[in-house]
Amino acid sequence: ADRPQSLDAMFREVVARTPGAIALVDEDRRISYEALDAMVEAQAAGLLARGCRPGERIALLLGNCAEFVSLFLAAARIGMISLPMSTRQALPEIRYVLNQSGTSVLIADAASAANIPPRAEVESLRHIFLLGTPQSPHAEAEPFDALPCPPDPDRAPYEAAEEDTLCLLYTSGTTGNPKGAMITHLSAVHSILNFEWALGLKQGDVAFLSVPASHVTGLVAIILPALRVGGTTVILREFKARKFLERAEAERISYSLMVPAMYNLCLLDKDFETFDLSSWRVAGFGGAPMPEATIEALAKALPGLVLQNVYGATETTSPATVLPPGEISAHRDTVGLPLPVADIIVVDDNGVEVPRGTTGELMIGGPMVVPGYWENPEGNAKGFVSGYWRSGDLGSMDAEGFVRVLDRKKDMINRGGFKIYSIEVENTLAAHPAVVEAAVIGQPDPVLGERVQAFLWLGEGQTDAEAIRAHCAARLSDYKVPEKIVFLNGPLPRNANGKVQKTELRKLTPA
Ligand code: ATP
Repeated sequence: ADRPQSLDAMFREVVARTPGAIALVDEDRRISYEALDAMVEAQAAGLLARGCRPGERIALLLGNCAEFVSLFLAAARIGMISLPMSTRQALPEIRYVLNQSGTSVLIADAASAANIPPRAEVESLRHIFLLGTPQSPHAEAEPFDALPCPPDPDRAPYEAAEEDTLCLLYTSGTTGNPKGAMITHLSAVHSILNFEWALGLKQGDVAFLSVPASHVTGLVAIILPALRVGGTTVILREFKARKFLERAEAERISYSLMVPAMYNLCLLDKDFETFDLSSWRVAGFGGAPMPEATIEALAKALPGLVLQNVYGATETTSPATVLPPGEISAHRDTVGLPLPVADIIVVDDNGVEVPRGTTGELMIGGPMVVPGYWENPEGNAKGFVSGYWRSGDLGSMDAEGFVRVLDRKKDMINRGGFKIYSIEVENTLAAHPAVVEAAVIGQPDPVLGERVQAFLWLGEGQTDAEAIRAHCAARLSDYKVPEKIVFLNGPLPRNANGKVQKTELRKLTPA
């Protein structure tokens, strides 16, 4: 009953509770809850004065910065649907998303000016606002600073209904066009409360934003739960391990949620052990499987740190399962237990539920699951079945309810009928002392269908293909041992969210 109805209601409540606490640290700016609320109010009033109305879409093409957060909250305050966009997207992708969503207002930062399509190419676009001064001026953009911000104390607050859409998050679309998951106030509020509860977040926590704010992890796993508890979000423009460690020590980090590769890069810093990270209480990881070797190394380096696997997706507005505190040694091969409000079933290819322990596709239901994709009947018909989202992930649930994620359905390797889940092979490769990063894909094969091909980055390490194969042969069934091994000169190709791009690896493979 004390669950807030809308994001703005949640934010107003915390502003009243902790007005003087620091909400955001952005470079040398430290912004209190009260000051953030004033920014939000001025921007909301400014948008209204420019004719913006509830239900309209407002795209935020911004790197990680305080204005991303204030504008997101300002849009929510007046009932606009925001559309956080990755600044790593190219112009054609941006144009597609603006058109598909029928966006009327675009706010971009100076660095993204070159990626703004002309207004003639996006019929719905009425305003383009620019934050800061771009290197070359943009003919159709108005400076953001010129937004009139009349104080309007009499304006009645916009009352969002739970089922109203708060924002559209487009999934990266490694398969086909991006799809706009409709994050509702209901799904967002549930996700935020899930994070607060499952990761034990509390007032005064210092969260680190080291993934893009425009992605569900940055937004719903870090910024919004930190706001909910009256905590501080330290905003990093981009992730660099050394910078992260320096700031984590200086700002006394307590909470992080990052992709596994980021923890791995921290551990690789030669001075890792010299940093005082004693304030760091909870480290969530997710978005991709964390190699067991990284879990072990992190647990050894920081014994007081609670490591929690978080499994979820844009369509579940973040977590569906979380590994409870203290379970990391007994259940490191699982993504934990479904959250109390989550309903997870495992089905076979015909959509029929399979017994516990059997592998199938994970289907996820519950109030944190989005109602669908924006104006996309085909995507909705494929992606959602009787209230469940089809994750496309293969996994199982054991008798105790712990969930295992084995592979994405589309990445599973089928070698002459033998099914090979990438994660098992990647874990084995990553456990080799010379290997820093490892990924496997199925290499097309005229006889067997697919063969296992591995891509390795050794960093400073040294070994050769024979030694790697021998290491795998001692630990895996023979058909799972990579037949072809490619040594890369640098880290694996990753998207803006830090996930390995297997499609890029496939391009490196001569068919
Ligand atoms: P797509 O490539 O289909 O657009 P995406 O990477 O953009 O997907 P997200 O919503 O960011 O989509 O990621 C969700 C997916 O990430 C999950 O379906 C799962 O495959 C993977 N994932 C998330 N958390 C974990 C985890 N803890 N362990 C393993 N895999 C995970």
